[in-house]
Amino acid sequence: MIPLSVPNLTGNEKSLINKCLETGWVSTAGEYVVNFEKEFASYHNQEDALSLMNGTSALHICLMLSGANLNNHVLTTNITFVATLNSITYTGAEPILFDIDENNWQLDLDLLENFLNEECDYKNGSTIYLKTKRPINSVMIVHNLGGVCDMHRLKSICEKFKLKLIEDAAESLGSTFDNKLSGTFGDYSAFSFNGNKIITTGGGGMILAKNKNDLEKARHLATTAKTDPKRYFHDNVGYNYRLVNILSALGIAQLQNLDDFVSIKRKINSFYEENINQSVGPIFQKHEERCLSNCWLPTARFKNSQSLMDNLERKGIQTRPVWTPMNQLPMYSGLEYIANNDISKKVHDNAVSLPCSTNITHEELKIVSSSINNFYD
Ligand SMILES: *Cc1c(COP(=O)(O)O)cnc(C)c1O
Repeated sequence: MIPLSVPNLTGNEKSLINKCLETGWVSTAGEYVVNFEKEFASYHNQEDALSLMNGTSALHICLMLSGANLNNHVLTTNITFVATLNSITYTGAEPILFDIDENNWQLDLDLLENFLNEECDYKNGSTIYLKTKRPINSVMIVHNLGGVCDMHRLKSICEKFKLKLIEDAAESLGSTFDNKLSGTFGDYSAFSFNGNKIITTGGGGMILAKNKNDLEKARHLATTAKTDPKRYFHDNVGYNYRLVNILSALGIAQLQNLDDFVSIKRKINSFYEENINQSVGPIFQKHEERCLSNCWLPTARFKNSQSLMDNLERKGIQTRPVWTPMNQLPMYSGLEYIANNDISKKVHDNAVSLPCSTNITHEELKIVSSSINNFYD
């Protein structure tokens, strides 16, 4: 059995978790919570970060900070994990979906710019969607499969139209654009440490924010908006979203290996690109020239992808299609979807993600690529 992607827990995970168990510091207080945040922030050249119980709660808090609410819109991509859309919906804001670029499978910036120019009006300091007469609050960019779009261009679009920029960096920890790490471009960014991500805390998430006050606001909101711990005084409707010490311990150990994981993932991706025969016709996800992807989930489009996946499954090789496009899910099918050729559907219909655990062996990689080559023989 060759799984799609499983956690690699061969570092200091055990010893740090044992320390939590021995000392009894397993819950919301404890030094690992603080240290994990500090180390994550410093990895990104930032002063501080806020750890949360998953990526979804991190996105939710980012959106609340950005001012997304019942009266406005958040622009995002049609191909993403459903948490992106769910978190927007929790705030009451109405998402507007954008199709992806045929090459890099990220939100199509031409479509975005065209939409803002043609279908919106700029009034009293905000960009209004003419059709609903509601302001556009922000763009939530999703770095699909670890790739990063032209962030300089996206930033200047957001600045021009006075939109907040939120990065859903759940899949792109360690990826860069123009030598700058994903998650450090936006006003706010959210990461995930779910079991299938490049590092994991079992379940967990993190926020980075441009403005330090925002991070304090976020910490307050995520800690039940408590102002006086002794008298249980809370000054707002808060959330119980914080990551606990025992999971932060896991995070610290995982972060120590992040650079190794990224370099292994990149090698796995190159292996597939070099060893799956071109005659088989795979079209791998492409990247902008200045993007260095963490190659979280090596993925390519194949002919007869469904039979290929079935065939590999019978051989014990686990693969997955990319996310079902959001406009095909029942609760989001009524949303506005800005597209020309519905590339989302085309990519979803034939893209296959390949096994890429960081502890996959060279033998296993050879089995996967030769099984794919043989399938088309
Ligand atoms: C995994 C993921 C999330 C959500 O993270 P959880 O930790 O599972 O809540 C959000 N967005 C994207 C794009 C993801 O891949």
